[in-house]
Parts: sequence; C-alpha cells; structure tokens
Amino acid sequence: VARLRLGLVGIGTIARGQHVPSIMSNNRFDLIATASRHGEVEGIKAYRTVEDMIADSDLDAVSFCTPPDVRFDPALAAINAGLHVMLEKPPAATLTQVEALRTAAELAQVTLFASWHSRESEGARAARKWLADKQVLSASIAWKEDVRLWHPGQNWILAPGGFGVFDPGINALSIATAILPLPLTMSSARMVIPEGRGSPISANLTMACGTAPVSADFDFLQTGPQIWTIEVQTDQGTMSLTHGGNTLSLPDRSTGTATDREYPRLYERFASLVEQGASDVDVQPLRLVADAFVIGSRETGPPFEF
Ligand code: NAP
Repeated sequence: VARLRLGLVGIGTIARGQHVPSIMSNNRFDLIATASRHGEVEGIKAYRTVEDMIADSDLDAVSFCTPPDVRFDPALAAINAGLHVMLEKPPAATLTQVEALRTAAELAQVTLFASWHSRESEGARAARKWLADKQVLSASIAWKEDVRLWHPGQNWILAPGGFGVFDPGINALSIATAILPLPLTMSSARMVIPEGRGSPISANLTMACGTAPVSADFDFLQTGPQIWTIEVQTDQGTMSLTHGGNTLSLPDRSTGTATDREYPRLYERFASLVEQGASDVDVQPLRLVADAFVIGSRETGPPFEF
C-alpha cells in the first residue's frame, strides 16, 4: 500500500508531544510538510499557511492540531483540494461547521476523521466491552485539572470558541458516549466564566443515560492531585475509570497501562479509514457541549490570569 504524504497544521503542544512521534513511527505516513505561523518540525518543509502548503506540496492528507475555532476554513480548503483530513478534538467550534466538513468530504470523496484520542485508551476500550451487557444505574464524571499546569499561556482556551473547561471535559464526554450503552441526554448545566473571559473555567452538568442519572463536574482550577475519573454503577457492580482512561477497576479485576498508545492508534485508524474509503465523524461529545451552552446558566467568576 502506498504511503500517505501528510501535512501537519498547528505546531504547538500536542503536535510536538504526540502527533509528530506517532506519525514518524507509523510506516503508512510520510510527514512531508507543516503549516504553522511560528512552529516548525526539524527537517520538514515548513509553510506559514495551510493554503501555501497545499498549493506547493504534493500531499495526500492533512492533520489539524490548531485550536478548534481556526480550523474550519483551512480544513474545508484541504478537503476541496481532494485531501484526506484528520481533526484533533474537538473537530470544530460549532456543529454546523462539522456537518459542512462532513458533507464536503462526501462530495470530494475523501476521508474525514474527527478524532477523539481519549477513546483510544486501554481502559476506555475495556470499559466499553464490560458495560455492553450491563444495566447502568447511575454514573458520575469528575474531570478536574490545573489549567496553569496543562495549558500554560493558552489564552485561546478561555476565549469564545476555545471551550474553556470543556476542552478537557469533552474528552470525558467522548469516553462516556463511547462506553455507555445508551445515548446521553443533557438536562441542565451551570457554568462559571471568569470576568473578562469568554469560556467557562468550571461547569457542572446533569445528564441522563436512558433513565439513569449522570453527573459531570469539570474544573480548571484543581490544584494538588489531578482527577480524571468516570464511575459507573451497574446492576453487576461498579466500574471506575481513572487517570483519564488509563486505569480501569471492575468488581473482579483492575488493570493499568504503562504505555500510552492513544495517538499511534489514531494514526493507524486514519490510515485504515483512507484505505477503506470511509469517514468517521462522531459529533456526540460536541453536541453535549453545545447543549450545555444552550441550556446552561452562567455566573461570572473572579478574573483569571495564567
Ligand atoms: P497550542 O499549544 O496552543 O498549539 C496550537 C498551535 O496552533 C499553536 O502553537 C499555533 O501555532 C497554532 N495556531 C494557529 N492559529 C492559532 C490561534 N488563533 N491561536 C492559537 N494558536 C493558533 O494548543 P494545543 O494544546 O496543542 O491544542 C491544540 C488542539 O489539540 C486543541 O484542539 C486541543 O483540544 C487539542 N489537544 C491538546 C492536548 C494538550 O494536552 N495540550 C491534548 C489533546 C488534544 P503557530 O503560532 O505556529 O501558528
């Protein structure tokens, strides 16, 4: 099978930390170009805009690691140029943009892959299997991290369209929507937005999975131990997924993984979607966030500086 000539867009934290090593270790891809206003990858041809990269390089595919609210126009341009496209989570800032990209990809007959890296953790994959034949009684999600530690200086994250605490929180929702046997519905939400910022720094969600109550507490101001936990009570005992999906406790066993294969798996999946001529665009996590913004109450919190 021919290797895919790939362009990578938005050379920041996640591109350097996960995408570049995962692409380099995957024999289905050749990273031949990057597009970033400031960032570069050593030894790879660097462009400042996606448009220049597309015009000048002989690409098969483009992978986007820019913030969600600046992804739509360049992603659409890549699709319309006949290139396969992979998107970091969340796939775009709005649902209508994702749907437009999906339609454009269908028309252009290229692959669109809206990736959700947290779904690829060992624990999430095993949790999904375990829950498949259980009756869910209730579930609670706690996703509490220190924004200063994980997103230092990323002012875009608290701007409108930056998702605020939903940037990590949507990872929890991506796992929950993948492992719970029934769709999640949003009942109410409460958000706190720091004075002068455009996106929430904390959020409390009340949802349901069928008739089972599901709560989620998202907090960006967590100091001390960082918490990324999903606990599900079922008719056959409690399942608990901790460390963002890397540790799974079931009534009869516990598993933990030392190696993180989330991003290598995403690129394996992207290559296989291209091979099959298929797309994978699941908007469930983004739809829940959008619902929270539609239904949620908003409070103004104290100003926040990094
Ligand atoms: P980041 O460190 O800020 O990197 C994003 C890059 O995009 C920037 O370095 C910047 O490079 C480019 N960019 C283009 N337009 C931009 C704009 N208007 N504002 C800011 N940057 C712009 O962010 P990141 O943490 O890598 O996150 C990027 C995406 O990956 C987000 O969707 C995030 O949810 C996702 N993600 C992040 C993590 C994580 O732990 N950080 C984990 C998983 C997924 P130039 O200045 O060179 O253009």
